[in-house]
Amino acid sequence: MGEWLAHSVSLGIRTACARFRTMSVHDVIVVGGGPAGSTCARFLTRAGLHVAVVDRARFPRVKLCSGWLSPTLWDVLEMSPYDYPGGRWEWLTCHVRYGGEARAIPCHGWFVRRFEFDDFLLRASGAELHFGVSVGEIERDGDGLWSVAGLRARHLVGAGGTHCPVARLCEPPRPMGPVGVQEHEFRADPAAVARTRLGRDGEPELFLHDDLSGYSWNVPKTDWLNVGSGTVDPKGVRAAWQIARASFRAAGHLPSDADAALDAMKGYSYYLYHPQHLRGAARVDADGKGGAYLVGDSLGLAQPITAEGILPATVSGRLLAEAIVAGAPASYPTRLATHPVLADYQRVFRLRETASSLRRRFSHASPLRSTSPSNDLLSRGSRHAVSKGFAWMFSGARLPVPRLIDLALVALDGADWWLGRHRASEGRT
Ligand SMILES: Cc1cc2nc3c(=O)[nH]c(=O)nc-3n(C[C@H](O)[C@H](O)[C@H](O)COP(=O)(O)OP(=O)(O)OC[C@H]3O[C@@H](n4cnc5c(N)ncnc54)[C@H](O)[C@@H]3O)c2cc1C
Repeated sequence: MGEWLAHSVSLGIRTACARFRTMSVHDVIVVGGGPAGSTCARFLTRAGLHVAVVDRARFPRVKLCSGWLSPTLWDVLEMSPYDYPGGRWEWLTCHVRYGGEARAIPCHGWFVRRFEFDDFLLRASGAELHFGVSVGEIERDGDGLWSVAGLRARHLVGAGGTHCPVARLCEPPRPMGPVGVQEHEFRADPAAVARTRLGRDGEPELFLHDDLSGYSWNVPKTDWLNVGSGTVDPKGVRAAWQIARASFRAAGHLPSDADAALDAMKGYSYYLYHPQHLRGAARVDADGKGGAYLVGDSLGLAQPITAEGILPATVSGRLLAEAIVAGAPASYPTRLATHPVLADYQRVFRLRETASSLRRRFSHASPLRSTSPSNDLLSRGSRHAVSKGFAWMFSGARLPVPRLIDLALVALDGADWWLGRHRASEGRT
């Protein structure tokens, strides 16, 4: 009798385990349901794969973000902006203030509310959704399947943002620290928003910090206001916001009763694109049939100057899905590096690095502080160029003549190297 009981119990456990195994095996588990995770899921399920998305939050959830989208995003999602059912604000002018001068610059983009947008994308992805599950431990079982919160799959996608637990497996190099950002989106009286905003509804007001180490924004969205600041050095972001707030206030661009809301800023940090990050994009199994991968903020892909992060999140999510569907997940890093958006980021990254190196070399030799009229004209011209360049980048425009820029970069690198050597030899004599 005892033997029979033991046999039955063991059979029961084995059957339950077998059922559990077949029930919970997916093709892909995605950790994180932001734009990177939901886009990856969208293109995987579209190809017929069985996908589970796990997120610690319950959607819709608040995501600190101003919700600015560049037009390319809709192409990546293969979706018309006019089919998006949430609030959307199309803008054709960007108001840029830099060095005490304000300019209204024609360019094009969109704003959404992340609270609605992320929820829409995730629910439209077709994936099985598991909310309220904070992923900590990630294990691999004897069958070579990743095991996360009771789900199992050969492919594991890390889309959990800056502190994604999957990043611990892929270990992307971090040669530079993250940027710091503070933001708040709050309800406001629509009449007060309309009265105080700089341009039309949805048109962003950008305040470029004097040393160009960051910028602040003020975005009217009918009965919402979205304000914030971002700085390369996260320690500077609070002070930067106070300066920007005073400037918006002095210009009369904030509703008078918004003070309490303006005190309620929240902060976050994330990584801008660096070419070395791509080394941690994928850890593919020896048989090429599974692995762990990073998309979006978990890899660190935001535009190197504007810090636009939603577009590269969706681009990376889609490219990874296409690599998995093609049965070639190992091709994901190359697909990423050669995609036009990321190839542009690589150029912008190099331009930024070369420019700051040249600026350092020239700064003590020729301080641009002369008050001569020609220098005034020059600095006015350069302020104009910076403002225009920023607005243009905000509209997500592709770099013109990329091959010419590549050639110019080689020449600039050469000049930088030569100047470095020249300075070193001057120092020796
Ligand atoms: C203040 C601010 C303003 C910004 N403004 C803009 C903007 O206007 N335009 C723009 O393009 N970019 C902007 N960005 C950047 C942009 O928000 C991000 O780059 C983008 O959200 C990245 O998407 P993602 O899917 O990689 O990550 P996220 O959107 O951060 O999604 C990650 C998801 O993973 C979940 N998660 C995290 N850890 C776990 C875990 N352990 N277990 C389970 N789930 C987990 C989170 O709950 C979250 O839902 C801004 C960023 C900030 C901070």
